[in-house]
Amino acid sequence: MPLNEEDWKAKLTPEQYRILRQKGTEAPFSGKLLSEKRPGLFKCAACGAELFSSEHKFESGSGWPSFYDIGKSDAVKLKDDNSHGLMRVEAVCRNCGSHLGHVFDDGPADKTGKRYCINSVCLEFDPKDQSK
Ligand code: FE
Repeated sequence: MPLNEEDWKAKLTPEQYRILRQKGTEAPFSGKLLSEKRPGLFKCAACGAELFSSEHKFESGSGWPSFYDIGKSDAVKLKDDNSHGLMRVEAVCRNCGSHLGHVFDDGPADKTGKRYCINSVCLEFDPKDQSK
């Protein structure tokens, strides 16, 4: 059953609620997953859907976790976002509709050329089990 906004408030931290449900942005260089370099999966902090993989993570210098591709195709929905007088592309979790960040065209040219600029608080890291 889809959660209503009161449910989300109860489930998420105030910071997560502000960003995931109200399209906020965390302060650059504040996120705990910015420097995460272990192999693993990055899941939606709101619903647990698999979104990004460490395979595509790169150091963009922007201060937000950056990926040049989606980990699981179709997991992330792209939407035009014309707020704040800017023409940007918003990245949203397809499963739960939560805001994740934005997509820019200045990613690595030898890969996709895309930069998925994602708020760390919108993600949960699931390190790959090295024993398997
Ligand atoms: Fe989600």
